[in-house]
Amino acid sequence: MKVLSFLTLALLPLVLPGSLMAEAQEISKPQVIIMLGAPGAGKGTQALYLVEKLSLPQISTGDLFRENLKANTPVGQKAKSYMEKGELVPDSIVLEMLFSRIERPDCKDGYILDGFPRTIPQAEALSKYLGESVQLLVFSLEVSDAIIIERIAGRIVCNTCAAPYHKTVLPPKKEGECDRCGGKLIQRKDDSEQVVKDRLDIYHKQSEPLKEYYGARGTLFLIDAATSKEKTTALIDQAL
Ligand code: AMP
Repeated sequence: MKVLSFLTLALLPLVLPGSLMAEAQEISKPQVIIMLGAPGAGKGTQALYLVEKLSLPQISTGDLFRENLKANTPVGQKAKSYMEKGELVPDSIVLEMLFSRIERPDCKDGYILDGFPRTIPQAEALSKYLGESVQLLVFSLEVSDAIIIERIAGRIVCNTCAAPYHKTVLPPKKEGECDRCGGKLIQRKDDSEQVVKDRLDIYHKQSEPLKEYYGARGTLFLIDAATSKEKTTALIDQAL
């Protein structure tokens, strides 16, 4: 059926019966992939894999906020205090920032959302915004809190391109330097142990209900992400 995506929809009514038409239309829709999971579950790492595999851009709301903070924009100024405490930034700010990002031309064939939605109202706002116009796939990366706390203690990220690393599990080729862009690797301020515990608490209360939300809509895959990066990627591949 894959070949159908190369036909123009204008030609399809001439050659396809109704059910195949519907399937072809579904395939030709932009693909939106949502990565759910606690902070440190590996959403960013697996999103980067999907960027390569599917040639779609990764949209991380956390990265967008950090860029705004660095550039000291009005959005960055509004988000700063929430981010430093590990709290969620209010929806009005997140939604405006996200929707203006996904309007950009590089998102026309789809995109990978990392860190959004984080709450049911955000998921509802996204669903209202997108309507039936995209093909949605949701992965939830499943990792226990104990492993998350251990992982985040060693997490470092590139200060320039935001690529994620880990001091022992996923070290860069050259210490302190990003493999992708040569940028400086740093520990995020909100990766301190107390802030991580608060972020996990928020995850369980506000973000975990999203599994039920997307599960009920038949678009959710639960992925065991407690082992290695490679094993998690293999499970995502299977689901794709
Ligand atoms: P992340 O890099 O995804 O862990 O996000 C870092 C911080 O950015 C979070 O702790 C929040 O303060 C903020 N943030 C990122 N995405 C969202 C979102 N979808 N809703 C609210 N706040 C967010």
